[in-house]
Amino acid sequence: MPNQAPLRSVTIGDKTVTFLPDGGGTLAPTALFPVSSAEGWQSYPSLLDDDGNFVTSVGGFLIKTGDKLIAVDTGFGALRVDFPGFGPLIGGDYHKSFSATGHQREDVTDVIFTHLHLDHVGWTTLEVDGQRELMYPNARYWCAQAEWEFWHGGNSPIGPHPEFVQKPLENLIQFVQDGDEIAPGIKVVSTPGHLSLVVDGGEAGRIFLTADVFHGVAQLTESDWAVAFDNDPTLARTTREALYTQLTQPNTLCAINHFSNEVFGHITPAGERYAWQLLS
Ligand SMILES: [Zn+2]
Repeated sequence: MPNQAPLRSVTIGDKTVTFLPDGGGTLAPTALFPVSSAEGWQSYPSLLDDDGNFVTSVGGFLIKTGDKLIAVDTGFGALRVDFPGFGPLIGGDYHKSFSATGHQREDVTDVIFTHLHLDHVGWTTLEVDGQRELMYPNARYWCAQAEWEFWHGGNSPIGPHPEFVQKPLENLIQFVQDGDEIAPGIKVVSTPGHLSLVVDGGEAGRIFLTADVFHGVAQLTESDWAVAFDNDPTLARTTREALYTQLTQPNTLCAINHFSNEVFGHITPAGERYAWQLLS
């Protein structure tokens, strides 16, 4: 049976990428992937729990390189949300996961948001002694300008919380775009709908953090299975298809935060489609 992915660090050259688990969800698969059918899911029993629900992980990443410590997204937050018709998504472990790395919150130099869905911004602030404060008080904050403008001023149930996320970031957020480097060897790649990141470890290879281009392994074989939260399912599919060329390059490790069991692995060609090989 699938599980939520555990905390894990991978070092590549002089850089280390750590997955910081926050929790996860057990969601109705045909609600999350509206194009899919119960029949279609019979090909993927290993992705479903005993009740037939799709198991997903939520969390963020931490990249250590030189004197930079970069958080990529901040998980879901210490909360449970039952999306009607979908099932529960539960967070709460992100802070504990971060502490387990041995770093202090003050050490984080940068936070980059791949996008601003609520499961990627949840620990932007936390409550300390009854007061809301930034999880990473000394960081610079980055996201795509279009993404900030899309959500800013709104109060969507799937977007950034007005008080806990938007307001604290209003005077801090800075914008990045395709090709920008957050730090040497940490490059932003636009994957329409999100920002992805490439961590270049030199001869050791690279790690491609693909944001929410993929939500589940089944999408490697069922490329039209967009998730319900994709604003533009056609664009989401085009983005996935366009990325395979890069993701299947030699020495390319993928880091996909919503995958169950393990977020690090290799995408490899398999017939006309692709397969997922967990990092052993
Ligand atoms: Zn997500």
